[in-house]
Amino acid sequence: MTDNPLKNSAYFDDPEMTSLIYAALDASSTGIIITDNRLPDNPIIYHNKAFETITGYNTTEIIGHNCRFLQGRDRSQEAREQIRQALQDGEDIRIEIRNYTKKNDLFWNELYISPITNAKGEVTHFIGVQNNITARKKVEEQLVVEKESIERKVAERTENLRMSEEYLNSIVETIRESLVVLDPNLNVLTVNEAFLRTFKVTRSETIGLRLYDLGNRQWDIAKLKNLLEEVLPSSNPVLGFEVEHKFPHIGHKIMMLNAHRVELQGKFKDRILLAIEDVTDRRAIEKRKDDFLSIASHELKTPLTAVKGYMQLIKRFMPENNPKLTDIIEKSDNQIERLQKLIAELLDVSKIQSGKLDIHHDTFDFDKMVRDTIENIQLNSDSHKVVLRGETNAQYDGDETHISQVVGNLISNAIKYSPGKDRVEVYLSTLKNHIKFSVKDFGFGINMEDQKKVFDRFYRVDSIQKKFAGLGVGLYISEQIITQHGGTIWVDSDAGEGATFSFILPHTEK
Ligand code: ADP
Repeated sequence: MTDNPLKNSAYFDDPEMTSLIYAALDASSTGIIITDNRLPDNPIIYHNKAFETITGYNTTEIIGHNCRFLQGRDRSQEAREQIRQALQDGEDIRIEIRNYTKKNDLFWNELYISPITNAKGEVTHFIGVQNNITARKKVEEQLVVEKESIERKVAERTENLRMSEEYLNSIVETIRESLVVLDPNLNVLTVNEAFLRTFKVTRSETIGLRLYDLGNRQWDIAKLKNLLEEVLPSSNPVLGFEVEHKFPHIGHKIMMLNAHRVELQGKFKDRILLAIEDVTDRRAIEKRKDDFLSIASHELKTPLTAVKGYMQLIKRFMPENNPKLTDIIEKSDNQIERLQKLIAELLDVSKIQSGKLDIHHDTFDFDKMVRDTIENIQLNSDSHKVVLRGETNAQYDGDETHISQVVGNLISNAIKYSPGKDRVEVYLSTLKNHIKFSVKDFGFGINMEDQKKVFDRFYRVDSIQKKFAGLGVGLYISEQIITQHGGTIWVDSDAGEGATFSFILPHTEK
């Protein structure tokens, strides 16, 4: 127990009680001191054990000292002034103050000071009760740090949002295409300069209105409405929607619409960005190209038919036993046939473009048609053997000439794009309610990227273009013919490993 100067004082008459009270004070984990205000500099005259534990000082370093030693060099705390004032006024005070242990470690001291007065009302002593609240203080400080960090994050996020809006607006303004930003109810939030220029309207005629109410209600189209209303819930964009309309101020135009959900952060998630492109000129040029194709192929066909007729006459009037002339005429015939085929292809393309490719329906023996087509091809190709496997046994109802054209196209391509090989394989089979035709070659093959495009009009694979003659329309025509029969056509291939072109046609045997 602490050697205490109060031990024999008049404060406690009963020695047993006195020592019990000291024991109780020593058992406390709270530091307790008593100072004597009547002595100069208000020195400590009592401390309990916990005070030693908290401060790290021993009795000889505590008793007789003013409490200020606990503040180390940290003298400019506001709390000190408050304590001084309270002591002077003889009042209770509770305060949190930074104190230092003997080892100079900071600890937060929650200090209660209460004055003891004598009968005359003079403050004779102060009792100081102290708790080390460093741990609590740390948590509190941590809370403050976290609160600041959250506030900072909120501020950053707000800034980001503001920037997203600016970001979105700056994109909208920069793009030369007409752009409209719509809210979820399809009200116009923003339009760019290009929009105003294209439609010759002002912002006030546009912003805040529903899209459908703009101009002379040019966008009030049920199908477009359905698609736009799905953009936000499904994230499905609207792509290539064409609107042909007589617009106010600018007249008859064809506009192409693309709409996407805007995927910016925060509240800008629910925006639709609508891009409007004037494709009137482009469509006019395309139409001129299509018209040219149609006229050119017709114009070429007529003289060629005449030339072919003259060739027949030459053959008829040709003197016999003139092998040189026979050879020349045969070569001319072949070239004329090639030209005829090319022109026929171009004519087909222009017919497809104008929706005039007529499909006639007649029942024919599918397998025989394939055999005849192969035979015909085989006459002109001795480099490859066309091997036929399987059968459909189908009496198919469709356009024999056109389907034979597809079969011929696919087999000719198989031969053409597998130079140096000696074989292509044709497979026929029946599937559930369908017949299937496939032709497999062992040539160049087609890479994934090009597989999607080879059925496009005029598309030819780059590496092949220069080495092989062709217009790049055979597969386009074939696909049109097969789809018009309700079938599908496709290619399986690995580049360098050959290709297999197949089609299926719906068919049920009667
Ligand atoms: P064309 O043969 O006149 O170029 P097609 O429409 O028949 O036109 O074919 C388009 C393109 O597809 C060809 O240019 C060629 O690049 C590619 N292709 C077609 N068939 C094959 C095949 N069997 N193997 C490899 N490439 C092929």
